[in-house]
Amino acid sequence: MSFQWNDLNGTFHPDTALDYLPEGQLRALQLQRLQATVGRVYHNVALLRERMDARGVKPEDLRTLDDIRRLPFTEKTDLRDTYPYGLFASPMSDVVRLHASSGTTGKPIVVGYTLQDMETWKNVILRALAAAGLHRGDIIQNAYGYGLFTGGLGLHYGAEALGATVIPISGGNSERQILVMRDFGATAICCTPSYFIHLIEHGASMGVKLKDLPLRVGIFGAEPWTEEMRCFIQRETNIRAIDIYGLSEIIGPGVGSECLCQQGPHIFEDHFLFEILDPRTGDPMPDGEEGELVLTTLSKQAMPMIRYRTHDITRAIPGPCGCGRTLRRIERISRRSDDMLIVRGVNVFPSQIEAALLKVEKTLPHYQIVLRREREMDEMEIRIEVTADVFSDRVGELERIEARLGKAVESTTGVRARISLVEPQTLQRSEGKAKRVLDLRKLDALKP
Ligand SMILES: [Zn+2]
Repeated sequence: MSFQWNDLNGTFHPDTALDYLPEGQLRALQLQRLQATVGRVYHNVALLRERMDARGVKPEDLRTLDDIRRLPFTEKTDLRDTYPYGLFASPMSDVVRLHASSGTTGKPIVVGYTLQDMETWKNVILRALAAAGLHRGDIIQNAYGYGLFTGGLGLHYGAEALGATVIPISGGNSERQILVMRDFGATAICCTPSYFIHLIEHGASMGVKLKDLPLRVGIFGAEPWTEEMRCFIQRETNIRAIDIYGLSEIIGPGVGSECLCQQGPHIFEDHFLFEILDPRTGDPMPDGEEGELVLTTLSKQAMPMIRYRTHDITRAIPGPCGCGRTLRRIERISRRSDDMLIVRGVNVFPSQIEAALLKVEKTLPHYQIVLRREREMDEMEIRIEVTADVFSDRVGELERIEARLGKAVESTTGVRARISLVEPQTLQRSEGKAKRVLDLRKLDALKP
């Protein structure tokens, strides 16, 4: 079998055909797969069968895609409560891979894959990378963590199936990342956006400008990020920063991914059905309006998910994409409902703060939000790194930038914050998902 289809000038291959399936055929395929998935779950997963029975709904009641609204939701707590294998719909003898999320509190969650699930995963990653303009001959530095985390191994097999050269470097060891990137001639990198920003500056400290390397595409995901962050990355490195979306509970990376139009990830709708719902009522939001993303897997065998509540806030992007794919898009996830901070009664998202900060000149995309409770009042401090010249410039520069940042944050969030400018390399760096918020309010409340 040849790989001509994804050679430099190739544009089409049966493997990617489903990206362009006519709408009617796509919905028919979804319905057929939904019916099969619900049947599989009903007969193999006790918890979901009990819930469906309690609602008086049987698999054969699903006659249209809208009937999905008769099915119960699945929550992350369901995975914890049935730890480790309670939601599996395949016997363990058919499960060829396990992954798990570490989970900061309590039990981790465990997910499983059959051989066919591995094929599905490989296929969606292959389509994601192809949509990002990657092909045979590309050298992909995969800096997502290898191990129980789905990021590393998830990207790995799809990248190989594409015919690209994979460097399975995993996360961490920034010095080696830079040397390998330079010496091996990596043309693409996969990691979290915050780790990539760390690599930009680590490279600079070693005298390596990423702009001068052959690197041309970044596949970024596994944490919320903003358009401002994308602009910063693209400006600093001249690469295309592509958003890939996924979560372990559904498959890992590859639930959706952006094409080169960079207008939000296309969801691989032949494998995943998405709904955008009002998080309070569970009612569907009209196209284009913001709500919680709820996902149902359509072809997973080992651990199908029915109406999984992601807590990711997004909207369906109406209208066709310039690339010609018929798969619908969602807006890149920049916030999650459980990221929400309540500061003096006001709802604040870290992404709002990120967007406000990065609009002010001379700021660097390293910041930390510190919440404290002082004299019965919430206090929000934002520590942010600024370029080194700010500290050596004329007196008054610091104050001017502080004031500008304070204003930007207050007008975006409605909350006044104390701004602390710090020198480059002051705030802690993360090799995976960035920790932006330090909430000390509970500790403060315990103080005598
Ligand atoms: Zn597109």
